[in-house]
Amino acid sequence: MPLLTRPDLGAWPDLGYVASPLDRAAHQRAHAPDLLEDAAARFYLVGGELVALTGAGPLLDPLFARADATAWSVREPLFLGLENGAPRFALAFDPGRREALEGAGLIVTDLRSIAVGGLVAAGHLGPLACGKALFAWHGRHGFCANCGSPSRIVEAGWRRDCPSCGAQHFPRTDPVVIMLTAAGERCLMGRQPHFAPGMWSCLAGFVEPGETVEEAVRRETLEEAGIRTGRVAYRASQPWPFPMSLMIGCLAQAESEDIVIDPSELEAARWFSRDEAALMLARTHPDGLFVPPPVAIAHHLIRAFVEGAHA
Ligand SMILES: [Zn+2]
Repeated sequence: MPLLTRPDLGAWPDLGYVASPLDRAAHQRAHAPDLLEDAAARFYLVGGELVALTGAGPLLDPLFARADATAWSVREPLFLGLENGAPRFALAFDPGRREALEGAGLIVTDLRSIAVGGLVAAGHLGPLACGKALFAWHGRHGFCANCGSPSRIVEAGWRRDCPSCGAQHFPRTDPVVIMLTAAGERCLMGRQPHFAPGMWSCLAGFVEPGETVEEAVRRETLEEAGIRTGRVAYRASQPWPFPMSLMIGCLAQAESEDIVIDPSELEAARWFSRDEAALMLARTHPDGLFVPPPVAIAHHLIRAFVEGAHA
């Protein structure tokens, strides 16, 4: 099984879904039918949240030869790019057929579990995230948003054209700000109702039309926790294919300290000392509190604060 290598990620080597080793080779998209015939072509099999794998570990293999993958495919293949010149595609399977895939000897599990558990070489996470997000977009955009007619896939999955009105539709990613706000030696974290018991994380929210990243950070922090913020510093970003977001990670400086949560967004929010945040990162907090794992950008924003970074 090939172990993909990734470009240097500096201090954040564990961040998931980033630094895909694929050359997107956009100029080759029109030639995808020929690339499908390439003997070196390999295929990721994605079904909604699920991914099919083979092997016996510790690292599983998410790449299939065409003959092994196409039998399960229910959509047109998406061309993801080239890995050292070898074409890489994503194929969609019907997640309702999970038992059939497993009966055929495949391992089927969800992408979050694959990322958190390190079940595949890290370089596969970016291509898998890309394929999952693209399929999610196609699944919701079968009809032209301009005139309502059925649209069709072109450019190997990177555009949909409407044969009725001529509109072209391109795959979208939704920008989300995710921020750790600090007030001196304390940082602000919140809990959403669906979080695992004991987990706290950064606040986050969608960027709205007409907004800068900095404005979105300030608005979301005020809306969700009642905290006013001043300086905002961008740190890093992360594709987040649930279903198709781009997380824009920032640190922010608080200009107020009295928390008033929006209960429709958060179950709770509170300030944590730097020492307490460090224990949560290490999963040694005496009350069992913890933060998201290193695959998530929140982990690295919290670590940056613990290590002294600020907006
Ligand atoms: Zn149309």
